[in-house]
Amino acid sequence: MTDTRHTKVLIIGSGPAGYTAGVYASRAMLNPLLVQGIEPGGQLTTTTEVENWPGDTEVQGPDLMVRMEAHAKAMGCDIVGDIITDLDLSQRPFTAKGDSGTTYTADAVILATGARAKWLGLPSEEKFKGFGVSACATCDGFFYRGQEIVVIGGGNTAVEEALFLTNFASKVTLIHRRDELRAEKILIDRLEKNDKIEPLWFHELAEVVGDSDPMGVTGVKVKHTKTGEITEIPCKGVFVAIGHAPANELVKDVLDTHMGGYVVTKPDSTETSIPGVFAAGDLTDHKYRQAVTSAGMGCMAALDAERFLAEDAG
Ligand code: FAD
Ligand code: NAP
Repeated sequence: MTDTRHTKVLIIGSGPAGYTAGVYASRAMLNPLLVQGIEPGGQLTTTTEVENWPGDTEVQGPDLMVRMEAHAKAMGCDIVGDIITDLDLSQRPFTAKGDSGTTYTADAVILATGARAKWLGLPSEEKFKGFGVSACATCDGFFYRGQEIVVIGGGNTAVEEALFLTNFASKVTLIHRRDELRAEKILIDRLEKNDKIEPLWFHELAEVVGDSDPMGVTGVKVKHTKTGEITEIPCKGVFVAIGHAPANELVKDVLDTHMGGYVVTKPDSTETSIPGVFAAGDLTDHKYRQAVTSAGMGCMAALDAERFLAEDAG
């Protein structure tokens, strides 16, 4: 069965940007409708402790997102479990098609689709995805109790994943292509104090090695970035933590993007290249990519949408 629902403001995404936009747009009496997508709560649901959300010295990422959802709902935001598969921004009202069969029409749209984990693109990585290769330690770490694991990357995510995985693994090798980590100092300090983690500098993943019957990883071949020398490291799990790319599939052909696909917004604003379409959070942000900055941009987008609709009506 198909049905059509109209809203003044359609918010696409349920991370910190989407839920904050939901709170502000509800309080502006715009009766927003928020579509959650495949990952209700967004990226923070894939982590454990969050230590830099103001007001909470420490909070579990999934708990924080449940609270944000409840907050948006309590303010009057209509939260819908659906995935937008197609978005037509060529005329107003804008039209979005949901995977459920519902069509959403909207006078303004706030895009808050965030970012998704990047992969290296190796055929062997693809082959063993779900069979030893993962991009989410919180989701899959439990399967590697007492086993050796490798983590690829040198940013906050890689270091946090490596630290978290020491709860399960007998040893974690952190493979990084340089000898300097991008992660915050506090995380590097914890890494250096953890006996279970061994960094391997100047190396890149060349191939994931494993068995086909039953499917499973037995090791990785890594290449020295300077000498080209290949070494094999035995392991049962490979966690790829090389960053995130903007989830721009719905709009990459119709909105201006830059810096690898991030949606361009006007200076000091969340306005995109189409009037009435606003973008917030990691979808637009190649620089800060934090929960608090995403939430801040969600607030801005709701205020920008409110102003746009008021000017449009008047
Ligand atoms: P996201 O959180 O990426 O959410 C995007 C939302 O869009 C999701 O709900 C998804 O379902 C939805 N969506 C996507 N496509 C569609 C579609 N087609 N239809 C409908 N919905 C869709 N930041 C910190 O400040 N502190 C931390 O401690 C921290 N830890 C992190 C740990 C990890 C492991 C990771 C990966 C990130 C961490 N970050 C942290 C970064 C932080 O999570 C992000 O900056 C933040 O979540 C971005 O928020 P967002 O709302 O822009 O998007
Ligand atoms: P990131 O900061 O972009 O770091 C990606 C890492 O992967 C870099 O070290 C990079 O190496 C490496 N890399 C990238 N492509 C590679 C490739 N093809 N082969 C090998 N290595 C590769 O990404 P992130 O760690 O996922 O963090 C994303 C954002 O979320 C950041 O803004 C971060 O601050 C935020 N975040 C915050 C927290 C927190 O506050 N506690 C936790 C997690 C994430 P180079 O260093 O050589 O470029």
